[in-house]
Amino acid sequence: MKRPDPAPTETAANGPYHEGGPGKRVDVGAAFAGKCPRCRKGAIFRQLIVFKDKCPECALDLEQFNVGDGATVFLIFLLNVVGMIGILVCHFVLNVPIWINAPLWTAVIIGLAILGLRASKGLLLALEYKNDARIGELKS
Ligand SMILES: [Zn+2]
Repeated sequence: MKRPDPAPTETAANGPYHEGGPGKRVDVGAAFAGKCPRCRKGAIFRQLIVFKDKCPECALDLEQFNVGDGATVFLIFLLNVVGMIGILVCHFVLNVPIWINAPLWTAVIIGLAILGLRASKGLLLALEYKNDARIGELKS
């Protein structure tokens, strides 16, 4: 049985501290399911691909993470290949008419993009939590 990580603490030197780090494990299943990387219970999405401000279970501040567009670029390349292979196979091998092929693959690619974005954004957020990643600051 996995124990949830301890509640966040705040230090004067570091500001909000979420207690991630190299010793923490990434629960890939929970990340793909859109669950909080600390408690693995709370849903991290408030819309299809938009993060909540905080975890509803353990109040982990999700705004401190910056997933960015890395997952989106990777999915664009992957879905282009999957979509083109699917469309070409359906059209030239299975002889599916274009009026079925075009809307079918449009829906498939949109569905895969949403599922893929949820999974990859959840995984990137879990990796940022594990590696204690945060926006860089210049110290003077
Ligand atoms: Zn949580």
